[in-house]
Amino acid sequence: MTSPGTLIGRAAHLVATRALSRVAVIAAIVLGLAGGSALGGRAGAVTAPVAISQPSAAPAGDTPAGVDLDEDGRYDLAWPLTLGQRGEDAYGSGAFGASRDGGRRRHNGLDLVAPVGAPIRAPISGIVTRVGQAYSGEPELQFVEITSPTTRYSARVFYVGPSRAPGAQVTAGEIIGRAQDLGRRYASGMTNHVHVEFADHRGAVLDPSAVLPAFPRRSKA
Ligand SMILES: [Zn+2]
Repeated sequence: MTSPGTLIGRAAHLVATRALSRVAVIAAIVLGLAGGSALGGRAGAVTAPVAISQPSAAPAGDTPAGVDLDEDGRYDLAWPLTLGQRGEDAYGSGAFGASRDGGRRRHNGLDLVAPVGAPIRAPISGIVTRVGQAYSGEPELQFVEITSPTTRYSARVFYVGPSRAPGAQVTAGEIIGRAQDLGRRYASGMTNHVHVEFADHRGAVLDPSAVLPAFPRRSKA
């Protein structure tokens, strides 16, 4: 089994050999880990944004956007979907760290535009450790939690009708369910989306866009 130390060692090796975009992604992961560890505690802990360069070429269509850290031919990290990030709507912004509850808390994840029923992909490789309710007393809206034994990161994707159960082994980029409908809970016009959040092994919140590869740019028609 690969230890986190080994993974970072491999990342360091890749830093010496890979193109700038890949280097930036791996550096962001290492920085994200260090930043998250320093803060401790999931509630309210927000890592500083990490600048990452954009890739020179963006994948087209529904191709999952991911990164293969240990070069086993499979993604270790991937975007759940790449239609866009939720901007400002009637309920606020979907950006990581955006204000919530009139500034009393911050948005501890990142919202990704997701039409109802859209296939949603695993953001990390690992084991499904939980499938739960996004809001207590509201069984319909659910989340899927995946924990990576390698990095000890956990990722949660909210508002997903799951197609994987706890205990299942998943690879980043693999479909884990379908986007649910937020229209009933947020009736005043919220962009339908899934919410993705990351935590390190101590539970410190990490910026998803610092952990995941650079978000692919899409050409606008
Ligand atoms: Zn959100």
